[in-house]
Amino acid sequence: MANIAVIGAGFVGLSSAYWLMRDGHEVTLYDPAGAAGGASFGNAGTFANYACIPVNNPTVFRDLPHYLWSGSSPLRLRWGYLPQLTPWLLGFLRHSTAARYTESATALATLLGRAQEGYTDMIAQAGLDGFIRPRECLYLYSTQKAFDASKPTLELRHSLGVKSRILDKAEIKALEPRLQPMFERGALFEGSWHLSDPSAFLHALQSWLMGQGLQVCAVAVQSLHPQAKRVMLATSEGSAMHDFVALCAGAHSKALAAQCGDAVPLEAERGYHLMYPGTSHLISRPVGWAERGFYMTPMAQGIRVAGTVELAGLGLAKHQGLMDLLHFSSQKALPELGAPEAPWLGFRPTLPDGLPVLGRSSNSARVVYAFGHQHIGLTLGGLSGMVVADQVAGRPSVIDLKPFAATRFG
Ligand SMILES: Cc1cc2nc3c(=O)[nH]c(=O)nc-3n(C[C@H](O)[C@H](O)[C@H](O)COP(=O)(O)OP(=O)(O)OC[C@H]3O[C@@H](n4cnc5c(N)ncnc54)[C@H](O)[C@@H]3O)c2cc1C
Repeated sequence: MANIAVIGAGFVGLSSAYWLMRDGHEVTLYDPAGAAGGASFGNAGTFANYACIPVNNPTVFRDLPHYLWSGSSPLRLRWGYLPQLTPWLLGFLRHSTAARYTESATALATLLGRAQEGYTDMIAQAGLDGFIRPRECLYLYSTQKAFDASKPTLELRHSLGVKSRILDKAEIKALEPRLQPMFERGALFEGSWHLSDPSAFLHALQSWLMGQGLQVCAVAVQSLHPQAKRVMLATSEGSAMHDFVALCAGAHSKALAAQCGDAVPLEAERGYHLMYPGTSHLISRPVGWAERGFYMTPMAQGIRVAGTVELAGLGLAKHQGLMDLLHFSSQKALPELGAPEAPWLGFRPTLPDGLPVLGRSSNSARVVYAFGHQHIGLTLGGLSGMVVADQVAGRPSVIDLKPFAATRFG
């Protein structure tokens, strides 16, 4: 059995620890922020097995000016960050042609179609069932025009195996009567569910894994040095040797991957959330407002309104305009929400083609990558952990890893 380091304690890292320990390995988890200290803390909590449509989309060329300059747009770019962003942005646009977008959607659908397998045993063995809310996610359109515009993506989802039911205004009202009657159409996605508290889920998973022997090290990994038969890893507290390393540091994975021979164009799609304590009774399921790019999810502490995209790197300054947009838009849909608390900013790790990086590093088969899960890292965490364990064991992967190779950017 091997002695393995997992870098990052988010959905991907903790799931990797689970699957590696299931194979009998000794695992040490490195993360200075502890369990759920990154994007995994504050997401919308949805197991979105339907989310195979990448942000890359042929309509981007038509809609980009609106997105960048409209006050109601859920996408913002910090112009001062443009010079650093340009290579990623050009790659993003290159991957927004109809052909490349369909390729990415198909590859994502392959992962999403098996995503549940990554969690079923983990949830049962670690006793995490109490966090699972089996209510299907509802995606809403406030105008017929917006719904019509989304039809090609709904059709593509359908052709890739996503099952959904289209609802009219009366059906939406019957399902979620406290919502304002302002939504013309909705899509209800079969097999989706959500978590009552993503952070508590990961803390409970980590505690259970520690009971099984997981070692936790609250320090940042500063550098990786693959050697012939082991990998040396340096931290502020010294160095350590491991047989394998799983790099699962989300939006912070770029520099460590570069040390292992892979210059991956990883960027952060920054997203925000607001909490509305004591309001969870207002809706029964995650409700997304398509045109405004956010979800309202009933969680243990209240409704969490989460979403938007800001392209501005990994700095900590928050964008008040986007938080205001989340507040005003959610109030419009659900006026009983009241005042928000605890604004949060998180970094979605995103590659220009919208696909994660899964598989071995260029310099060493002993460094396994699992990062870049953009808007669906909660959903794909479990399956990514399975992939990591398969790579370490030398087993054939449950999915074809070619579309997810770190080398695909040339
Ligand atoms: C607003 C918002 C809503 C979202 N909603 C959903 C949703 O509903 N469903 C869904 O599936 N996904 C959603 N996502 C996306 C999801 O949260 C991310 O894709 C996912 O959390 C990524 O998980 P991760 O484990 O790769 O990274 P993270 O959770 O970011 O974890 C990476 C960890 O690595 C650690 N780390 C970084 N550098 C180092 C280092 N050098 N050494 C050691 N540790 C290090 C960090 O401290 C961090 O804890 C949402 C994201 C946002 C921002």
